[in-house]
Amino acid sequence: MLPDAHPVPKPMRAMDLFTFNQQFFDFLESCPTPFHTTSFIAKNLQEAGFTELTESEDWQISSGSGYYCCRDNGSIIAFKSGLESNMDSPWRMIGSHCDSPALQIKPNAIKKTSHAVDQLCVEVYGGPLLGTWFDRDLGIAGRVTLLDDTGQLLVHTIDFKRPMAIIPSLAIHLDKTANKDHTIEKQKHLYPLLCQSHDNNLPIKELLFRQLEDQYTSLATKKILGYDLFCYDTQKPALIGPNSDFIAAGRLDNLVSCYVGLKALLEDYLVDNCLLLCSNHEEIGSSSVAGAQGNFLQTVLARLLPDVPLKNRVMNKSLFISMDNSHAVHPNFAERHDTQPLPLLNHGPVIKYNSNQRYATTSRSAAPYQILCDETGVPHQSFVMNNDMRCGSTIGPIAATSLGVQTVDIGVPSLAMHSIRETTGSSDPHMLYQTICHYFTRSQLPQAGN
Ligand SMILES: [Zn+2]
Repeated sequence: MLPDAHPVPKPMRAMDLFTFNQQFFDFLESCPTPFHTTSFIAKNLQEAGFTELTESEDWQISSGSGYYCCRDNGSIIAFKSGLESNMDSPWRMIGSHCDSPALQIKPNAIKKTSHAVDQLCVEVYGGPLLGTWFDRDLGIAGRVTLLDDTGQLLVHTIDFKRPMAIIPSLAIHLDKTANKDHTIEKQKHLYPLLCQSHDNNLPIKELLFRQLEDQYTSLATKKILGYDLFCYDTQKPALIGPNSDFIAAGRLDNLVSCYVGLKALLEDYLVDNCLLLCSNHEEIGSSSVAGAQGNFLQTVLARLLPDVPLKNRVMNKSLFISMDNSHAVHPNFAERHDTQPLPLLNHGPVIKYNSNQRYATTSRSAAPYQILCDETGVPHQSFVMNNDMRCGSTIGPIAATSLGVQTVDIGVPSLAMHSIRETTGSSDPHMLYQTICHYFTRSQLPQAGN
């Protein structure tokens, strides 16, 4: 490996920790669902001069320019070719997911009860820590498919931006074993309270109609055809502790990585071809039109590298950094972790290993990332799952398998993964950002030969 011949230019990583975290909090509040995350990223890229591409049209790509493409409103791929790059240059890719475990509202949304309240009917999306969804001020957000008054079929994001529902716990007096053994029955216990019952039904579409009118003043909605709506916690992200050492917020898994990827791609001085993927449906296995098991990334790369032998050569010398949050050691449950040095909050991003390739990392694919950390002065840690527990996975192995590209799985250490409110160190996201900026701007991609 060669040391970086050209030090990183000064404007890079100019964003200090305070500004970075402030903007990260704004991002988190703007992105209650994957649809909002995708449109937030697209808007920011467009403002930075990136051009939108649609999959139904032919693409004309100019070198040195930035582009982005969305699929199904919930996944986005953005890329920018470096000024000195050409068709043969390696691709420096990063991938993350933009969905989070949640409660999704069913098509028949309202349940009338004989107890003077109307409730929401929800399904469990992914694997949330369900106990954390009780006694929270739940907002409602997602996308709505509609016909406008000209007969045009449209899809719009929607966010009520205020508490709309709540799932109250059962009082301790009525559940004496609540602190010992508390089983949550998904079909029975998870109906959020929506409103006091009235003689007239309050159809969900009426609520959506009104909200669309508020959000889109020039929109004339004729008919709402359907929706993909989720409940989310309306509590704002916060810095925690006398020294603000921790961040507590919803959806840190994996909006941390989406935000880092966006900010890094907006840096100047990109060298090779750089690409960001934010993928929907990771929490439910990635098999969907927009998920990483689908063909979104492959078809985009096939358009950029239509010659298959050339594409194979380029992928062979490219790198995919799969970014997804990792488990930090929980001080109250340290025995649940592996016995080796355990990932700590505020001690830098974690490189994740699994011998069964639930993470795509190998010693070879981890090496470039270690070099990037060393050169930016960012510490890195490693994570291996306790042998007695089932290891999670990421989109990393999917990318490695489908593209034949060297892939490393990394992520910021965090606590309470899949809680409605997760915790991470307040310095870790910024450290990850620094290493990814360096990845995109280093004069050469550090890669081992075959
Ligand atoms: Zn994740």
